[in-house]
Order: sequence, then C-alpha cells, then structure tokens
Amino acid sequence: MATWSCVKQCGACCHLDPAERPGLEEYLLPEELALYLSMVGEGGWCINFDHTTRECRIYPHRPRFCRVEPEVFQDMYGVEPADLNDFAIDCCWEHIEALYGDCSLEMLRFEREIWRE
Ligand code: SF4
Ligand code: SF4
Repeated sequence: MATWSCVKQCGACCHLDPAERPGLEEYLLPEELALYLSMVGEGGWCINFDHTTRECRIYPHRPRFCRVEPEVFQDMYGVEPADLNDFAIDCCWEHIEALYGDCSLEMLRFEREIWRE
C-alpha cells in the first residue's frame, strides 16, 4: 500500500495559479481566499516558495490550506481521516503531473517515496 509523503524539493503544490485551481472559494473561507490570492506571485508561484532551495520560507507558519492534516482536509474537502492518505496522494499526483509532467524526476521521486516499505 502506498503511504503519502511529501518529497523534498518538489513544490508542485506551491504553484498557486488560481486559473489552475478551480473552486477555491468553495473550500477556502473568505479571509483564506484573500490570503491565498495575496500569495500568488510571478508565474503563479507562491511568494513564499524559495526557488533555489525549493522549500517553503515560512514552513512552520504556513497557512492552514497548505497543511496536509486530517482536521484540515476534513474541514476543507470533507475527506474522512481514513481517506486522507489516498486523497493526498491523488492531490500530489495531480499537481506534480500538471507542473512537471508524468515522467518528471519529481514524479519518480514521489512514486519512490510513497511506495517505500
Ligand atoms: S506536491 Fe506533494 S510532494 Fe510535492 S511539495 Fe506538494 S505535498 Fe510535497
Ligand atoms: S506558504 Fe509555503 S507551503 Fe504554502 S504554498 Fe507557499 S511556499 Fe508552499
């Protein structure tokens, strides 16, 4: 069974271009939507994403909608905690494929990580 894990130096979910994220207003609170939109920078990337290290500059203080946590996903997407693993894997697949491609190094690293015993 695959186990969700965030791989380092990916950042596919930090590409926030609203054009590629339909329905934001359906799962974000109004103040979160305002925060989200204020974070969209050049090329659709989050202004807090460090392109050199490919890490979040504010990781300990990142917003709720950046957190893969059971309470957050249940509240935002109605995902039961038991389904979080599969849902999170699908989200990452979707983001990584859209941004880097199906056969990218990022996808290979993600696949290797989630199937690690
Ligand atoms: S897309 Fe997934 S693996 Fe990549 S940075 Fe985001 S949470 Fe981590
Ligand atoms: S705040 Fe951090 S984790 Fe959230 S989208 Fe921006 S760079 Fe990514």
